[in-house]
Amino acid sequence: MSEFPVGKIREDFPVLSREVYGKPLIYFDNGATTQKPVQVIEVINQFHREHNASIHRSVNFLSDTITASYEEARVTTQRFLNATKPSETIFTSGATASINLVAFSFGETYIHPGDEVILSTLEHHSNIVPWLMMCERKGASIKVIPISDQGELDLEAFAQLFNKRTRIVAVTHVSNVLGTINPVEEIVKISHSNGVPVLIDGAQAIQHGPVDVQKIDCDFYAFSGHKVYGPTGTGVLYGKEKWLETLPPWQGGGDMIDRVTFEKTTYNELPLKFEAGTTNFIGIIGLAAALEYLKSISIKEIESYEKHIVTYASNALQQIDGLKLFGPTGHKAPVFSFILNQIHPYDTGVIIDKLGIAVRTGTHCAMPLMDRLGVDGTVRASLCFYNTTEEIDRLVEALDVVNTMLS
Ligand code: PLP
Repeated sequence: MSEFPVGKIREDFPVLSREVYGKPLIYFDNGATTQKPVQVIEVINQFHREHNASIHRSVNFLSDTITASYEEARVTTQRFLNATKPSETIFTSGATASINLVAFSFGETYIHPGDEVILSTLEHHSNIVPWLMMCERKGASIKVIPISDQGELDLEAFAQLFNKRTRIVAVTHVSNVLGTINPVEEIVKISHSNGVPVLIDGAQAIQHGPVDVQKIDCDFYAFSGHKVYGPTGTGVLYGKEKWLETLPPWQGGGDMIDRVTFEKTTYNELPLKFEAGTTNFIGIIGLAAALEYLKSISIKEIESYEKHIVTYASNALQQIDGLKLFGPTGHKAPVFSFILNQIHPYDTGVIIDKLGIAVRTGTHCAMPLMDRLGVDGTVRASLCFYNTTEEIDRLVEALDVVNTMLS
């Protein structure tokens, strides 16, 4: 794996060269948010300094310039996802907003009392709560795809969940807790053979490998900008045009309208129908810069380097005395959830933080999954393409220190 230029890539991320508590920072909390390369920071800075004006609405030079960049960002995002048209790409404030949009708008149109929605045990709260809110409003209910003890979806049980009342399936592409990569193409095939559309929550997938929404054939795909090296407060919802055309807007306001009177409003065309109000337009341009940055490295190369990281870290962590690693160990994203002996995850997290290593502890917004695993929480180290095997060695040493102090 020596050919992957990780050392050079790290130079693009200013924060990676800082120290915490007098120790070089090791950032293993990428599942929560990723660091930003200078290529993104500089674009945001430049647009604030030189091109700031409101998009779509004004007749002036700056507004025209920034509107063009915003719409170019849409084309960049469309190409990154291999969507058929730019208008199938809706900009939102994040994966949470994208999922809420579909849960609301799809629910308003297609869900009736007695209907059912299928989710999985692996879901983040962002792909549970919006559906639950919609089900409570519409008198519908949720069915759940079970998982194996290794944290993989039980597809046979999934196929049995469909009936005449099933209206939509919403599953994560990659588990934020276990790193499980779900077989999304197969999930879509099974769902479509039952005449049911599928939303994929790609919040933990888009940063780890190529995503081709036409190949997956999903009806909706959601992700957040800040988890893919872009700015916070940005996100994307891909939707097939045939669905987006039929769904009502989920928020009303400026830009999403065609004509407004006090009696009636008619709505703008796609994609603006779903982009009410002033979006985080400079952030969205920064998100496009992040996607371009990944393309310049090659998302395939990133995927292949991260496979090496998965193998190295899985082997290293399994050597640690009393460490219980949850989820699959082979084919997975570089996300490692574990408990060390009987030590509370919070205590482990606090001690290794003092040694310079940033991880997350707790339920990771996935309480139903914690219940299934039979734990109150875990320590989660979530890695990405700027992390190194030397950093993994440092984590192992730090966990040995925790073991010595608290076991
Ligand atoms: N879905 C998954 C799988 C996630 O891991 C997260 C965040 O951690 C979300 C959705 C929500 O993302 P955001 O908070 O950026 O909207």
